[in-house]
Amino acid sequence: LLFASTLAGCGIVSTGEEPANEKAKEDDDKIVIGLSMDTLKEERWQKDRDLFEAKVKELGAEVKTLSANGDDALQLSQSEQLISEGVDVLVVIPHNAEASSAIVQKAHDEDVKVISYDRLIKNSEVDYYLSFDNVRVGEMQAKAITEQVSSGNFVYIGGADTDNNAHMFKEGAMNILQPLIDSGDINLVYDQFSKDWKPEEALKNMENALTANDNNIQAVVAANDGTAGGAIQALNAQGLAGKIPVSGQDADIAALQRIVEGTQTMTVYKPIHAIATQAAEMAVKVAKGEEITTDTTVNNGQIDVPSVLLDPIAVTKDNIVDTVVKDEFQKIEEIYKNI
Ligand code: BGC
Repeated sequence: LLFASTLAGCGIVSTGEEPANEKAKEDDDKIVIGLSMDTLKEERWQKDRDLFEAKVKELGAEVKTLSANGDDALQLSQSEQLISEGVDVLVVIPHNAEASSAIVQKAHDEDVKVISYDRLIKNSEVDYYLSFDNVRVGEMQAKAITEQVSSGNFVYIGGADTDNNAHMFKEGAMNILQPLIDSGDINLVYDQFSKDWKPEEALKNMENALTANDNNIQAVVAANDGTAGGAIQALNAQGLAGKIPVSGQDADIAALQRIVEGTQTMTVYKPIHAIATQAAEMAVKVAKGEEITTDTTVNNGQIDVPSVLLDPIAVTKDNIVDTVVKDEFQKIEEIYKNI
């Protein structure tokens, strides 16, 4: 146990029981998939990891996962480690959309194909991209908020500037907000990214927005549930929580609790089971050299990356039971715990 927690401190999430190098040598013909994760901070990533690992194993392959705690240099060195340990395919959830192109280069130097998971690796020859329709996520967020309030001072609390998804969520939100800004109904009085998706950064952003506008804010579009939590904390300090609509994303348990309590308006549920199992299937197929079917392509600044984009689902108080509860993503007794 002590050993395990020491490893966890180094960002090592899970490995086989034996030292990785020897294991790779022993089972030369066994497929090994590497998973390089930015972080395990947000609740969803633990689900991604567990479901991905379970599916890879079910398919008869081995999986090695490392998480980089938001550190670009560490994510690169961990990826190099996985490549040198002989993984057949590398699945990457990049911390930094641009910096992670170096991971693709290193992998390709060793003939290892790379799948970009959830977040796009930009300006690289990355082989595949598997994610959700992230522009749609942003549209769902802004639409749910403008259905509550369609005029006044709006605040946009974004995600990490270094994450391509944060830009796509913003693009989607602006698809809905811009016409209302142009017509003069909405004033976007504050619009900032939140470093590394940190709730405390979102809290600071929201405090700044409130101070700069003498608390005269009518709505908040927040990019995920973590940033929504920070924004709602700032609103709460001003007696405004529950009086102003706030969006989110991920269907985190804390966010669903806020939704039933009335301080958060909505979240976007992305079926993690679907992305994790499809990524595992894709990775094992790529390792076996089998044909991969994709639905679309996404340009990453360098190439059109063959992509699969899954559908996100908007969740409010009204459809919690039919979505996240029905899918067994969260438990109803947990969601209503404080009610
Ligand atoms: C993911 C979100 C997540 C955020 C912070 C984004 O790239 O798509 O689901 O909340 O990163 O980890």
